[in-house]
Amino acid sequence: MMGKTAHTEIQKEASMVLQKEMIGNHFKLLSQAKAQGKKVVYTFVPGNLNELIRSFGMLPVHPEINALQSAMRKLSGGYILEAEKYGHSEDVCTYVKCDIGMLKMGNIGPLGEKLPPPDLLLLSYTGCFTFMKWFEILRKEYNCPTVMLHIPYQSDGKVTPSMLKYVVNQLREEVVPALEKVSGVKYDESKLQTMLESSARTENDLVYIWETGKNKPSPIDAYFGGVYYIGPIFTAFRGLPECEEYYKQLRAEVDFRVENKLGPMTPEGILKKEKYRLVVEGPPNWTSFREFWKMFYDEGAVVVSSSYVRVGGIYENGFRHDPKRPFETQAEYCFGCYTNLNLPMRISLLEKSIVDYEADGFLINSIKSCNSFSAGQLLILRELESRTHIAGGFIESDLVDPRYFGAANIKNRLESYFQMIDANRGLKTSPSKR
Ligand code: SF4
Repeated sequence: MMGKTAHTEIQKEASMVLQKEMIGNHFKLLSQAKAQGKKVVYTFVPGNLNELIRSFGMLPVHPEINALQSAMRKLSGGYILEAEKYGHSEDVCTYVKCDIGMLKMGNIGPLGEKLPPPDLLLLSYTGCFTFMKWFEILRKEYNCPTVMLHIPYQSDGKVTPSMLKYVVNQLREEVVPALEKVSGVKYDESKLQTMLESSARTENDLVYIWETGKNKPSPIDAYFGGVYYIGPIFTAFRGLPECEEYYKQLRAEVDFRVENKLGPMTPEGILKKEKYRLVVEGPPNWTSFREFWKMFYDEGAVVVSSSYVRVGGIYENGFRHDPKRPFETQAEYCFGCYTNLNLPMRISLLEKSIVDYEADGFLINSIKSCNSFSAGQLLILRELESRTHIAGGFIESDLVDPRYFGAANIKNRLESYFQMIDANRGLKTSPSKR
């Protein structure tokens, strides 16, 4: 059910319909790929080289997107049980188990069409060790070529010239030759540059959209709504004209809400009254996504900024894909993914969001099976509390395993947290600008 205001309803639906069509077409193309002689590359969202893959005429598949889409359609529970039958333990990241279970049960994608096997596994390794183990499993299953782009972790919080050179060399000497070999197509720099130019334009639009969260009321929800907003740019579409179209449409819808001082669109229409402005750290739960979101909007809680929507790239600090330096820019993009940032960088990013977006609170959704996000979250909580003088909230759930979403428990904790914000109102001043 959408909003009652006809005009906004139509606007909101336009970008959602557009995105749905884009995703549907992509899965259709994938299902026909083998018959049409198209080559397929499996790769991950963080550090994805979409423009490069596309410049060879290849189609990307993102296993973690299949997992979350399966969860939203209530398919992941069965896939996870199937993977556990094959010995994947309870502690393994549930995206991996969902993917393996889906594969073992026929590799039917979340939209009901069969997924093609990969012609190449392209692993951009951006900070999460699970990525590597996941593709090791897939390599055994598919027995196909694999290429790894190793991105050094930003342990010191900076990218040195030798780190950059190391990644650029891998791109030139390993990744491009692997793509040439599998696709049978020669590397075409001008084609890549055209796509990188397009990417920069969509990145501008995405930053513009995030920044509108500074308005009061915020016209966007940068977590629940935000996961839709990052769909095209972080998956198969960055660098393509339809991606630019999507962000133009979305931007127009958000602008309309800013001009009319409207809150974000929720599944039950436009939020009437913004009561709490939150910053959220950690991925959302996908198996009960709507129920989870409702716990927020029913209380008038809006997420004005979140770290999860930076998982496929951070652009607020000025990074844009630069077509003039195609290799360096792709390397810099991979270095900057959230999973590749050290804890102090993550804390500073969150602190800046709390201050810049004038948040009333911040909340950590600690994901049972995602070590990459969850390790250090209690430290993040304490540090943010001491820097901002705002008490943080902490809830626990999982990505795609329905067994780990305790609705009553999460709701209780959220309600207590909102009551605490109420109680603290008036006692606290806004976080000081640093
Ligand atoms: S552990 Fe976390 S970051 Fe790593 S693959 Fe799983 S969900 Fe992604």
